[in-house]
Amino acid sequence: MAGGKQRPGFPARVLPGPAHGQAPARRAVAALPLAAPAGGLARDPIPARGRMVQQLAAGGIHEPAVLHAMSAVERHRFVDSALAPQAYEDTALPIGLGQTISKPSVVARMLELLLQGGVRDEDGRLGRVLDIGTGCGYQAVALAQLASEVYSIERLRDLHEKARANLRPLRLASVHLILGDGAAGFAAGAPYAGIVAAAGGEQVPDAWIEQLAIGGRIVAPLAAGGGQALVVVDKTRQGVTHKVLEAVNFVPLKSGIA
Ligand code: SAH
Repeated sequence: MAGGKQRPGFPARVLPGPAHGQAPARRAVAALPLAAPAGGLARDPIPARGRMVQQLAAGGIHEPAVLHAMSAVERHRFVDSALAPQAYEDTALPIGLGQTISKPSVVARMLELLLQGGVRDEDGRLGRVLDIGTGCGYQAVALAQLASEVYSIERLRDLHEKARANLRPLRLASVHLILGDGAAGFAAGAPYAGIVAAAGGEQVPDAWIEQLAIGGRIVAPLAAGGGQALVVVDKTRQGVTHKVLEAVNFVPLKSGIA
């Protein structure tokens, strides 16, 4: 369970590259060792991750910043070392306590929806975002490539601690890990440019809508027709709109801390 042990021998780092396609980001992503904008995906030294990103692009992910985020984050560091060889396959993997890290295609899809609908600065970067269900911390780190600040909340203490251990070597000053019940959002960080959830309930909690900035977007799984569907909620001055997208399969949004 302990993070950091018996990891494959790749250096702990996030690849350099443009944060937003066209213009290089004004400031580097938090404390990541971002160097000059690189040529993008071809520079990925780990072929499996490069292939994963190519498959994401072929599968319909178009935002360069999302593809960069997916190529920058070392997913193999967030799963048990025995599962590391599968880390760049498009599959959900167990992370302990009955929870899973979402499939890369689902993470990328959610990040793209969030980026396209969230509140962005002039560089195209999202402002402060809320990540519900930290799990192993993978998606929080991917989000940190796209947003100025990430608040990520997890209700299971062991997973919260695991995510802490996973993130420690990355020294991401922009990512804040919180132990708490994300069904209530996290008011201290509000308003959010975007909110993304990796666990689905019967409805989008009112707290999330309240804590969302005007112009912001929520991307979350929601119960629909006996299953679950991805839902996009946009908040404007005129009100809130809901859009139901494709079927998904996330763990349930539970309440309380355990
Ligand atoms: N984004 C995660 C996915 C983890 S799976 C990753 O990259 O690994 C979803 C997580 O949501 C689980 O860890 C589960 O414990 C958590 N969760 C479920 N209900 C929650 C709630 N009310 N508040 C916070 N986290 C919750």
